[in-house]
Amino acid sequence: MTPSAAHLASVRTPLLDWYDRNKRDLPWRRTKDPYAIWLSEVMLQQTQVATVIPYWERFLARFPTVLALAAAPLDDVLSGWKGLGYYSRARNLHRAAQEVVSRFGGKLPSTAAELLSLPGFGRYTSGAVASIAFGEQAPLVDGNVARVLSRLFEVEGLPGDREREATLWELATLLVKGERPGDFNQALMEHGATTCRPENPLCLLCPVRTGCVAFRKGRVDELPPAKVRAAPKKLTLALAVWAHADTLLFARRADSGLFGGLWELPAAEVDEDATEAETTLRLTGALGAGVKLEAMLGTVKRQLTHRDLTLRLYRVSGPLRPTRSAAFQELRWCTPSEAATLGMSTAMQRALEAAMTALK
Ligand code: SF4
Repeated sequence: MTPSAAHLASVRTPLLDWYDRNKRDLPWRRTKDPYAIWLSEVMLQQTQVATVIPYWERFLARFPTVLALAAAPLDDVLSGWKGLGYYSRARNLHRAAQEVVSRFGGKLPSTAAELLSLPGFGRYTSGAVASIAFGEQAPLVDGNVARVLSRLFEVEGLPGDREREATLWELATLLVKGERPGDFNQALMEHGATTCRPENPLCLLCPVRTGCVAFRKGRVDELPPAKVRAAPKKLTLALAVWAHADTLLFARRADSGLFGGLWELPAAEVDEDATEAETTLRLTGALGAGVKLEAMLGTVKRQLTHRDLTLRLYRVSGPLRPTRSAAFQELRWCTPSEAATLGMSTAMQRALEAAMTALK
């Protein structure tokens, strides 16, 4: 699909004008610092704007430059990210900052192609940072942009469909060519977030209505077709609450997978209807040391985006206190207040609080 130059112009100019008049005043729009802009893009990937603002401000105060972030221990970075979820973003951010230092002399590269070579930079983030921070005519497509372009140019296909994705990127590439590419990309996203919304788009207030094929043909409600959402999977973890003197045993998870790289009360996946014997076996396997279940201390439930999480807390003991295990990157005996300074997910934090209450 190649739209006419007139069609492209009927979108580009009015959308930029509309953006100038209506853009939300967001803190990362007041800075020219590429690092701060990059950070906002990473945080905004799976998190709402209103939630991101205080996190962005706090994180920047704690790690004000790429150099500061690169030099910080990973645990500090993960603890600065606590509450935002999707911790792989923080791990990639940290690794990318270290590569910016080692490969680019501490300065974030300015083109989408170079940015793409850094950890955590996909096509979207590279396009966003290159266009917004450096003024490159680099396209981007996120969920908002995909919806807007599907409607404006009547792009068929389900979200995730390859041909559809390719068409959307081609359209975004054509549209971003021109003045103020960063503002234009932000205008597209802002338009999708505030006007061309998934439900009840505000077509009568829309600055690009005359160029919108879906509006003209009465197909706004059909485009894009709704994605079928998979039901969240159930996941049950047994957590070992192993006390010794004033310490508890904590474990750091492997880098990949759920809560990758974060600390926790050592956990092992169990079946929803696991017996005590099965749970004992799983925890023994995870810790690489014989474990005896002394008491069930309680259950913590958390709803994550893709998971229904149940954490079962067991007070355990054993003949040998483990200090390392193949299932975890690290085991550490420390006090709960020392553990609070380690990077721990909100779910595991709640589990620790419940364990402490039960042990009192
Ligand atoms: Fe979206 Fe409606 Fe505007 Fe078309 S007319 S771009 S559907 S808000």
